[in-house]
Amino acid sequence: MLKVKKFGGTSVADKEKIFNVANRCIEDYKNGDEIVLVLSAMGKHTDELISLSNEISTNVPKREMDMLLAVGEQITVSLMAMAFYKLGVPAVSLNAFQVKMFTNSNYGDAELTKIETERIRKELSEKKIVIVTGFQGIDENQNYTTLGRGGSDTTAVALAAALKADSCEIYTDVDGVYTADPRIVSDAIKLENVSYEEMLEFSNLGAGVLHNKCVKIAKENDIKLVVRSSLTNSARYYDFKLL
Ligand code: ADP
Ligand code: ASP
Ligand code: MG
Repeated sequence: MLKVKKFGGTSVADKEKIFNVANRCIEDYKNGDEIVLVLSAMGKHTDELISLSNEISTNVPKREMDMLLAVGEQITVSLMAMAFYKLGVPAVSLNAFQVKMFTNSNYGDAELTKIETERIRKELSEKKIVIVTGFQGIDENQNYTTLGRGGSDTTAVALAAALKADSCEIYTDVDGVYTADPRIVSDAIKLENVSYEEMLEFSNLGAGVLHNKCVKIAKENDIKLVVRSSLTNSARYYDFKLL
């Protein structure tokens, strides 16, 4: 099975969490699965990069902002590759430029237009776990772009579509989609089923659990998403399939 697994910022926020993700992937790898891992920037790193730019100016060129923000995901993927190396499992980190994930030039809110699969396929054929930067793309002039806050979900789903993956698993710090943000609304109810249309509405209303663009791509490409908690142990994973 070819599995795309995406882990968000809170799931890769420190050394322990990075090794936790690596070990989870190794379980599947040892069972014979091919793994493409999509990662976000660590913890609140994207916010920190934005604050850093604000120290220079609050009116920065959008191209330069994306050049800056693309750094966050690159740190995570390279550290993750080092973790696999330490655990004795072959892995390689790739950014948007190396994969060739193309977008339009709408800096800060770019749309993916084409993802080439050749490099990823080559690395998978060499039995490596392939770790890809979420959130970033390149435009036709080879400038870095970003897909909008929370955009790593979209990278994962678009990659799953391009690779015709068998599954696309979004790991985060909640165990599914709720009727409202469970961190704010204490009696929010975990939804067992939700249609793509409902999910689109949720994410358009700001339910950060899934990026709005990823829901659209999942629908168009008929990709079943699984939302899982990266914090609970494997025996208690909660699978949430968007019907
Ligand atoms: P990640 O870093 O893994 O991408 P996000 O912070 O982007 O995580 O998304 C997960 C967060 O989405 C949860 O911690 C939760 O607070 C928030 N959230 C907002 N609305 C919802 C909802 N309807 N269901 C579940 N989580 C939600
Ligand atoms: N790092 C980016 C953000 O904080 C993308 C993501 O987390 O999906 O918005
Ligand atoms: Mg997110």
